[in-house]
Amino acid sequence: MDLKKLKKLEGITWDLDGCLYEFQQHQVDEFIAGVGVIMARLLNGQITEQEAAALAHESFRKHGSAAHDFEVIHGVTIGQWFDEVHEMFDEKALTFDATLKDRFNQLPGMSHVLNTQSSMSWGGRVLAHIGVREFFKAIIDYAAANFQSKEEFSRSHELAVAAHGKPVDVLAMVEDKKTNLVIPKDMGKTTLLIHYGRALENPPSYIDFQFATPRNALDAIIYAKNFG
Ligand SMILES: [Mg+2]
Repeated sequence: MDLKKLKKLEGITWDLDGCLYEFQQHQVDEFIAGVGVIMARLLNGQITEQEAAALAHESFRKHGSAAHDFEVIHGVTIGQWFDEVHEMFDEKALTFDATLKDRFNQLPGMSHVLNTQSSMSWGGRVLAHIGVREFFKAIIDYAAANFQSKEEFSRSHELAVAAHGKPVDVLAMVEDKKTNLVIPKDMGKTTLLIHYGRALENPPSYIDFQFATPRNALDAIIYAKNFG
């Protein structure tokens, strides 16, 4: 492991869902159901609750997005449902690593920014629930990124760098979705993939490090700072 790359770090941009805590399948089911409920209300009279629930499932199955068909067929925009569906989620139902806070404490002076394709409210609630909210300088949510994905657009990554207020070469991006690391790597960040036991056998060159959990990643950075 190239400890120098970790030792030099002064800021970490974190993904949230599936990264700072392990993603749970019930979250997908709740998201799809939540989209159905909201769409039935938004399209009051045009579609029944049952039809909306069925379309949300079908849309997710075909496009990986419960809202896709509502946006294409019915002209609903993401701003109409996105925050509300996150309000339906209960962060207290998440399992997480209670030792993370201790690791954050062992990196004094490290700057932390959240870059999440969820809502501001969800991001703040989850960080608070897992005990690390106080360490975060800023939350870049999906609305702040103009709903431009981390995978395809640089906007959220640029906002994160600005929030850190540090040169890009002392920053890292931590993600559970590998393709979200392409742009940060191009920008000059160090990239860390969190895989929760599903490590890539031949990681692409844009991934500098792989760790099973965020605790493992932080332990490596702490080790590099102290002994690297
Ligand atoms: Mg994620």
